[in-house]
Amino acid sequence: MPSFFYQPLFPVGPDTTVYRKLSDEGVEKGEIFGKPVIRVAPEALTLLAREAFSDVSFLYRTRHLEQLRHILDDPEASKNDTYVALEMLKNAVIASEKIFPMCQDTGTATVVAKKGSQVYSGTDVSDEEAISQGIFETYTEKNLRYSQLAPLSLFEEKNTGCNLPAQIDIQNGSGASYDFLFIAKGGGSANKSFLFQETKAILNRQSLLPFLKDKITAIGTSACPPYHLAIVIGGTSAEATLKTVKLASAGYLDNLPEKGNAYGHAFRDRDMEKEVFQMTREVGLGAQFGGKYFCHDVRVIRLPRHGASCPVGIGVSCSADRNIKGKITEEGVFLEQLENEPARFLPDPPATDEPGVAIDLNRSMGDLLAELSGHPVGTRLSLSGEIIVARDIAHAKLAEELEKGGDLPDYFKNHMVYYAGPAKTPEGHASGSFGPTTAGRMDPYVPTFQKLGGSRIMLAKGNRADKVRVSCKENGGFYLGSIGGPAARLGRDCITKVTVLAYEELGMEAIFKITVKDFPAFIIIDDKGNDFYQQAIM
Ligand code: SF4
Repeated sequence: MPSFFYQPLFPVGPDTTVYRKLSDEGVEKGEIFGKPVIRVAPEALTLLAREAFSDVSFLYRTRHLEQLRHILDDPEASKNDTYVALEMLKNAVIASEKIFPMCQDTGTATVVAKKGSQVYSGTDVSDEEAISQGIFETYTEKNLRYSQLAPLSLFEEKNTGCNLPAQIDIQNGSGASYDFLFIAKGGGSANKSFLFQETKAILNRQSLLPFLKDKITAIGTSACPPYHLAIVIGGTSAEATLKTVKLASAGYLDNLPEKGNAYGHAFRDRDMEKEVFQMTREVGLGAQFGGKYFCHDVRVIRLPRHGASCPVGIGVSCSADRNIKGKITEEGVFLEQLENEPARFLPDPPATDEPGVAIDLNRSMGDLLAELSGHPVGTRLSLSGEIIVARDIAHAKLAEELEKGGDLPDYFKNHMVYYAGPAKTPEGHASGSFGPTTAGRMDPYVPTFQKLGGSRIMLAKGNRADKVRVSCKENGGFYLGSIGGPAARLGRDCITKVTVLAYEELGMEAIFKITVKDFPAFIIIDDKGNDFYQQAIM
């Protein structure tokens, strides 16, 4: 067949990644049908997957840390932008000790691989199984969290207790190289992947820009900005568009050409990237609490499409920017070098920060509500005292009790509730990484619980449905936003005690009582019907 009928859809060019060598073992040179091949033993795949998910749970790419530091150096960054960026850098320093993972949601293990035509495995163990073994070892041996739920029936689920299954996608490539991208994708971040089935009508500036502004604003803050934002326009199918979004947000397609050709390969539109990046600065949400750093960067990729379809995909890589490349060649097993010394990005001398308003939580709910009522939305707080922790399953169980005619437990009425679920507790510490989860998932419970005296003060991340604002106004409630992302810092420095109160068998979904000290939070919704995020994007 003439070669001009084929061109790679993603001509990413030479790989400029800096790798470190893990091992010489498990790779042999050989020959099949007179052609040179490399034989990759399952042990090499297990080693690569194990080290990849270990490194990426604790270490960031250097570029990501440079971008956080850039926020500190920008005189136009808002005070809240610089506060969040500094907390994230401190988080990176703690996580780099490899005890506390950077985020409590240690993600779904995702592996995208290209196996060259001269790479041969040749054992009874499938590559997926060898890779899964490495993932299993990291998740069970490190202080990570198990987030995967196996369906037992349509409605019953059980945690698999090891974070498997992973999502493993191996494609054919060419040559004698086996190339990998490992992604540990958090649930909050994955939930911000969107597909819009558009038409040719959107392929002009006047239509595209307002469309993107609307969709980008709707992403909100629940996936812990600043984001690496990816937009893909076109695609040979809906799933091809969304897969490209994920790869683009992971920086995997950065070296695509900047123009298309008549055979239909992918390209980056750098001019549109600049325009959309400026748009993200004007959205107003900033790095979670107002400002201009909603995004670190933007990638806009154009794909070929069927004439009757124009899928548009939008997604983010969150503040746990866990993407790492690997490769196996005849020279051995290699993993992308991540940053081992994040402390070099901290300001010197250390930045001094105005303290938030100190809030003593160890007093009656009435006193606490009265104190919060005296501060406007956007106020930064520093919380100390006892908090109840409950998230999705605990809320569903409490609602079931109410349906049976029961009441909310007293502890739920007398304390603020933090929507969160911890990673494993490292030996010798009070808590594991323990940052907030996405508040929006608990929105449906708020009006009922608040009427019964529960959830009067809620602490989590991201924006809420308007019914939560209305309920807070009607019931004298508050929603406080905690910084999403720096869970190692919160778990190690701000949580001094964790005890299980109910549903211990649910693991990270149990109800806990925690004691916090100088725990940072912002007033997002108040008892007067104000919503900080609604005001920020007006
Ligand atoms: S940084 Fe936020 S969105 Fe990302 S994994 Fe952690 S909690 Fe989820």
